[in-house]
Amino acid sequence: MTGEIIAVGTELLLGDILNTNAQYLSRRLADMGIFIYHQSVIGDNGERVRQELDLAFKRSDIVITTGGLGPTKDDLTKEIAGEYFHKKMILHKESLDLLKEYFKKQKREISENNRKQAYFPEGSIILPNDYGTAPGCIVNENGKILVLLPGPPKENIPMFENYVVPYLQRFSKDTLVSKTLRICGMGESTVVTKIGHIIDNQSNPTVASYAKENEVTLRITAKAKTKEEACSLIAPIEREIRYILGENVYGVDEDSLESVIGKMLIDNNLTIAVAESCTGGLLCGRLVNYPGISRALIEGNVTYSNDAKVRRLGVRPETLQMFGAVSKETAAEMAQGAARTSGAHIGISTTGLAGPGGGSAEKPVGLVYVGLYMDGKVYVKELNLSGDRQSIRNRTVTIALDFLRRKLISNSK
Ligand code: AMP
Ligand code: MG
Repeated sequence: MTGEIIAVGTELLLGDILNTNAQYLSRRLADMGIFIYHQSVIGDNGERVRQELDLAFKRSDIVITTGGLGPTKDDLTKEIAGEYFHKKMILHKESLDLLKEYFKKQKREISENNRKQAYFPEGSIILPNDYGTAPGCIVNENGKILVLLPGPPKENIPMFENYVVPYLQRFSKDTLVSKTLRICGMGESTVVTKIGHIIDNQSNPTVASYAKENEVTLRITAKAKTKEEACSLIAPIEREIRYILGENVYGVDEDSLESVIGKMLIDNNLTIAVAESCTGGLLCGRLVNYPGISRALIEGNVTYSNDAKVRRLGVRPETLQMFGAVSKETAAEMAQGAARTSGAHIGISTTGLAGPGGGSAEKPVGLVYVGLYMDGKVYVKELNLSGDRQSIRNRTVTIALDFLRRKLISNSK
């Protein structure tokens, strides 16, 4: 089967946003054994969307569009699709009821524009939008399959996974199951080298790596007649990869560093407090991403100035004077101070030079210290990072979380 993706939205053509939908969908369709030979981007223009649909169906079995399902005039993908297949637009009552309910909850009046979101080309399969107001739909016209998805990734990814994948799987005799291993503390090239023999000999399951800011993911995908059979193909490969990569594998699928840490803290009845300088709240923010963290997180301090480090955390002025704010001594006292002043079991701190200015030969931009106080001991990790201010700050947070995760593992052994 061949497929192609049409992203609709003038903002994509103007370069305002990146076409991440095409990337996501292409990867997932490839996993499913659907060949993608074309991707395109079209502005919010009816005539050009129509031309593109026509061209796409001349060469592909499945066409997936993203965007243009919203309430405004320039959202026209669904209407053009209806015209293209010579279908009337029919009201889907359930969708209208859901829209009404949504507006009622928001204490707003539903507008005529919004009603448009409940009309679909006659004979469509409606795809519920669990995260927004615009439902999607599938039109299957004599084997030409058109899937219309909303633009926002937060809406279209779950819609694709929950409703489109099961629909498309009926055209395949096989079931596909994927499991993602999440890795931190090891670069993509190292991961790929260490498991090179697995990657080189892969056929079913396949193993693909992707790198994201300081994290690597390995997606293992198996094809089989049943889900159970696919899972049993994945299991030995997963075991082997885990054996080789050890503690670097921090989680699977939807896990994040903060969710893994949150669970460990709560399971062990541990509390934590944060003291941040260069990361300015990002580290605490990551911990707060995990729902339920209130059982473990006591507080976060953004102590940017020297004065705040002394006043809030009890860092000694002599330490700041002798070693400077960016030093292992200060990081250690910040972590200890965070725990002491809050009564938490664990204190974690960051202090560093995120740049672009302020560096020196002795202390260059990218020099960061992460302090960790746990079980009466204090540990400091020195980082020498490159990149711009934002990426230094983000990477510091990821490395700090991973440092904490590893210490929690070794302390529980
Ligand atoms: P729309 O459904 O066309 O109104 O799109 C709504 C929003 O979804 C846009 O403003 C973007 O933020 C996002 N979006 C639309 N298309 C894409 C795409 N291809 N990739 C990533 N985000 C997108
Ligand atoms: Mg749009």
